[in-house]
Amino acid sequence: MKLSQMSAHQLKYLLDKGETSAREVMLSVLDMIDAREADIKAYITVRDQAKLLSEADEVDARRLRGEQVGELAGLPIAVKDNICTKHLRTTCASQLLKEFIPPYDATVIERIHASDGIVIGKTNMDEFAMGSSTENSSMQVTRNPRNLEYVPGGTSGGSAASVAANEAILAIGSDTGGSVRQPSSYCGVVGMKPTYGRVSRYGLIAYASSLDQVGVITKDVKDAAILMKVISGYDPKDSTSQKIAVPSYLESYQNNRVFRIGIPEEYFGAGLNEEVRQSIEDAISLLEKEGHKIIPLSLPHTKYIIPAYYIIACSEASANLARYSGVHYGFRGEKSETTSEMMFTTRTQGFGSEVRRRIMLGTYTLSAGYYDAFYKKASQVRTLIKQDFENAFKICDFIAHPVAPETAFKVGAKTSDPLTMYLVDIYSTSANMAGVPAISIPCGWAKNGLPIGIQLTGKHFDEATILDAAYRLENLLNESKIWVSQENL
Ligand code: GLN
Repeated sequence: MKLSQMSAHQLKYLLDKGETSAREVMLSVLDMIDAREADIKAYITVRDQAKLLSEADEVDARRLRGEQVGELAGLPIAVKDNICTKHLRTTCASQLLKEFIPPYDATVIERIHASDGIVIGKTNMDEFAMGSSTENSSMQVTRNPRNLEYVPGGTSGGSAASVAANEAILAIGSDTGGSVRQPSSYCGVVGMKPTYGRVSRYGLIAYASSLDQVGVITKDVKDAAILMKVISGYDPKDSTSQKIAVPSYLESYQNNRVFRIGIPEEYFGAGLNEEVRQSIEDAISLLEKEGHKIIPLSLPHTKYIIPAYYIIACSEASANLARYSGVHYGFRGEKSETTSEMMFTTRTQGFGSEVRRRIMLGTYTLSAGYYDAFYKKASQVRTLIKQDFENAFKICDFIAHPVAPETAFKVGAKTSDPLTMYLVDIYSTSANMAGVPAISIPCGWAKNGLPIGIQLTGKHFDEATILDAAYRLENLLNESKIWVSQENL
């Protein structure tokens, strides 16, 4: 097996024993980029190879001198291009920010550096994280490494594709309504969105601030636990981050813990592809056979989630994106004589059509006379959705359900109809609306040769439980050869 195909924890083991070096790992990943990137187009920017290798050499030298090195020492990490990286272009896949070079690092990037991880490049995404397939990027279309005719999912499609194609060992994404979990399930990797407030949003370019969270995309659950530990924790620079201790995930993992698994009936109704349903049910029955308790339950406000989510997300986006006026950041529109003309041309030429659609929708739903009917109603619905989850967690430890109603779709299949694209998010936006953590892990293959993902959604700040359960399930899927993590890399 090539080094680039290994998980972070396998590489850490080899690096600690001196059986490989950070340079060799970096070279192996760069080789994979050379071989596959022309087809996959996961990255918007790959950093200079000489710099990457010299950073890897530095880690190797420190290790050789017997110095203490960090949790991610020498591991190449891909980062979604809406997370600010000092002196490294951060575009949000938008023409508006195509030349934007942040003067600072996001807190997650500082933490990765403090753990001696190496940011290898910036990954493609839907423009400003609006979409579900990465086709809304103004830069390029990323392809699913499992089958190049299919989308990788979105909006962190570049990050998920980079990990699935072994063009990175670990990746960072962002998740406002499923953007870490859904592309992970489409590409057959693990994706985790933490509790709102668990990871600092400082330096994450805002889409919908009350829903946005930074998340991790990895080859297996153990890697997700490692990267989550590194990026989590209180940050005074983000007023919504919480001062709650971060446990060492999976370290206290106990094989004999019995889980109470909630199965929400609304997530298995009409619209769910039969093969996906079967695969999710098979995965759940593996846990049931082991003695875990299955608890059927209802999340009665599920049918309102998509409309409420899109009203809240667009409203917040219209406010957040007001800053791109051509005055402070990035691109400035051409041929304008007055300030308002300049702002008009900047925003018309700089934003793609989906971003403009959402700004218009959001401006409408926030405007006088419509606010009560739309934004306020959607916020009230959000409270009901949160209560649904609170009630569910009185009787179960986490809930299990599909990540998306079907596997990845073909490139171009949904681009002409925004509504069908929005419906892809039907099972993933709820975790953001309720602010709870959720993990997506691969649980099988569909007949079209594409992976299927199962989602485990947990209580606020109880990432530990869903990681434990996901780890257990991953082992069971591996043992029964339904999903063999290593063979699939
Ligand atoms: N597909 C959803 C949207 O377009 C979620 C995107 C995301 O999580 N960033 O809003």
